Amino acid sequence: AKKQGRNGYRFFEHNMNTDVHLQMQLQQDLRQAIHRNELVLHYQPKLVAPDGPMTGLEALLRWQSPKHGWLTPDRFLPLAESSGLIVPIGNWVINEACRQMKAWYQQGHCDWSVAVNLSAVQLEHASLVEVVRTALAQHELAPSHLVLEITESTAMRDAEASLKVLNQLSALGVSISIDDFGTGYSSLLYLKRLPANELKIDRGFITELAQGNDDEAIIQAIIALGKTLGMKIVAEGVETPEQQELLTRLGCNTLQGYLLGKPAPADVLPGTTAQSSPD
Ligand code: C2E
Ligand code: CA
Ligand code: CA
Ligand code: CA
Repeated sequence: AKKQGRNGYRFFEHNMNTDVHLQMQLQQDLRQAIHRNELVLHYQPKLVAPDGPMTGLEALLRWQSPKHGWLTPDRFLPLAESSGLIVPIGNWVINEACRQMKAWYQQGHCDWSVAVNLSAVQLEHASLVEVVRTALAQHELAPSHLVLEITESTAMRDAEASLKVLNQLSALGVSISIDDFGTGYSSLLYLKRLPANELKIDRGFITELAQGNDDEAIIQAIIALGKTLGMKIVAEGVETPEQQELLTRLGCNTLQGYLLGKPAPADVLPGTTAQSSPD
């Protein structure tokens, strides 16, 4: 590309510069995002199949940046993870989700739980257990109202260390959910040792689910495995009535997906009212 002449070279260099520059800008702005109140949680319901009650909601992070617009996690999570910013951001998420869950509890939703996603960097950070304990105490929230979602690959990054932290979290009384199940490489022996209460079947198996295809057989096997280990089974990414019907028939007890409810701010969720933070 360098020999393409002056203009071609400059064009190439210019693109590279803007990309690096944009990443640096993003990182700088993300650093400010917490105290500038630019981070927002949306919540997506988990419902008991087929049209049963809502058992809980998953908190999904959004960044409302005045400069970069409305960003979903794919745009800033990798940066947050590589820079370490995911630790303070993740602490904010845990605290904010507990605050909102307490507000729902006080509105009479005493049987709901709120689920928070954790990155590997958070799981490996020494303060995590204390952060969770403090957030629960500060909001006077019983630990049974908090679920921590950890992907199979996150847990496997340092399997023994993860097990230790997850056991400590479990001892606090919070629930552990294995997210994106079926996409990682955990052994059955490891899975058996994990103090997990919930198993979420990865959306990849749901997308092309049809009666009699491979995905149906795999889902059947995951459900049987999860039930043997005493776990609640959640299917994520349910988009069609056909998927919902088949999953229900296969014995999957909790469903999540656009068909049942898209992620939304707390104040627009049906049957809820948000309570904004005191500031
Ligand atoms: P995830 O935990 O697997 O969350 C599910 C993702 O699928 C969400 O994307 C959700 O909006 C989307 N989704 C839900 N139902 C459907 C459906 O029916 N069809 C389709 N096509 N998509 C559906 P989102 O919110 O963009 O989050 C992406 C990922 O970012 C999450 O995947 C999670 O791994 C991560 N994430 C989100 N919030 C946090 C957070 O607070 N902390 C950390 N560490 N990670 C987070
Ligand atoms: Ca999740
Ligand atoms: Ca997932
Ligand atoms: Ca995922």
